Amino acid sequence: MPPLVSTELVERIRVADDPEQSGLWPLSRLQCLRDAGVFRWGLPAETGGSEETAADLLCGYIDLARVCLTTAFVMTQRDAACHRIAASKNRELRRTLLPDLCAGRLFATVGISHLSTSRQHWSKPSVVAIRTPHGFELSGEAPWVTGATHANLLVTGGTLENGDQIIAVVPRDRAGVQIATPLELLALNASCTGTVILDHVAISADEIVAGPIPQVMKVGATGGTGSLTTSAVALGAASHTIDGLQSEAKRRPDLRSLVDSLTRERDDLRADLVVAVTDPKSDDERRIQAEQFRFRANSIAMRAAHAYVCCAKGAGFVTGHPAERALRESLFFQVWSCPPVVTSQTLSKLSVAEVY
Ligand SMILES: Cc1cc2nc3c(=O)[nH]c(=O)nc-3n(C[C@H](O)[C@H](O)[C@H](O)COP(=O)(O)OP(=O)(O)OC[C@H]3O[C@@H](n4cnc5c(N)ncnc54)[C@H](O)[C@@H]3O)c2cc1C
Repeated sequence: MPPLVSTELVERIRVADDPEQSGLWPLSRLQCLRDAGVFRWGLPAETGGSEETAADLLCGYIDLARVCLTTAFVMTQRDAACHRIAASKNRELRRTLLPDLCAGRLFATVGISHLSTSRQHWSKPSVVAIRTPHGFELSGEAPWVTGATHANLLVTGGTLENGDQIIAVVPRDRAGVQIATPLELLALNASCTGTVILDHVAISADEIVAGPIPQVMKVGATGGTGSLTTSAVALGAASHTIDGLQSEAKRRPDLRSLVDSLTRERDDLRADLVVAVTDPKSDDERRIQAEQFRFRANSIAMRAAHAYVCCAKGAGFVTGHPAERALRESLFFQVWSCPPVVTSQTLSKLSVAEVY
């Protein structure tokens, strides 16, 4: 099988506007992906999707993130929305939305972190759901929503008084939905990520993706916090950084062993990911394995970027140099969809001094 991301697609993405440079939503790069059928990846064939193998999808994500992290990341949030809809028991929702999502006529995103990772220490839910005669009403804040202003549909949710939760599809222009100005971030500003405020937003019963049930995020979750896809994106970012180091090393033989070592680690991680995704496992084993991969992927993304700045010296500290960009982008993986276990592991490594 040829790789999902062909050299021709890589070239088309490269020549399209770089969102990191313009600071603008990656419209033309997303257009390249839509034209190449990437919007169909992993979605059911009967609704216009293309059912690639899980291994091909992971490699596809590594390769996309290697060319453009912002575009690959935006796609992961869009995919999360689509996969939740595809996994829903709501047949009508699948039938009406998935064909347009697969064809790229509709764009969706997720605002579900408050049901999994964000604000878990709060005494009250970030978004409250109440029952109404026609369905539900959502009020509160979805703190992190990537590309909300550019999406037609938001997949978000809330918590009922009894602790049950729902996830629903909410049209962005629904009364009571307010998209806040995107946050100013350390990196990935073109992803237009920010808060969505929900003020008594009416949800009809036929817009429900899952629930009401306890821990709704566990229903039909194909990705989720720290999934292998998030590791693939981190590995793609690391690969881009290692590409930059490779070109430094062409002129500087003293960098060869560092670059060879990072390249070997990158290749091993890619191969291990491909094996892991095809290996059947219990849910618990899969979760633990995904956390281990995410730690490895975060680690190589951080170390490669750190090394790149060291090698690029003062020049690499100047805004616009690929090394400073790589370092900023590598920190993203420490916070985005990062399982608590991975954060603890990282913190325990950081708390111990290296002995030289
Ligand atoms: C660029 C970017 C894009 C993202 N896009 C999306 C998206 O499209 N959709 C989506 O659903 N999610 C998205 N996320 C969310 C992401 O996956 C995580 O959920 C998020 O980064 C978790 O950070 P938080 O600040 O919300 O965490 P929180 O746990 O809410 O922490 C916030 C603050 O609370 C305090 N705090 C934390 N824990 C405790 C505690 N136990 N006790 C007391 N105080 C505490 C700390 O001061 C901390 O800074 C995005 C994140 C980023 C950075």
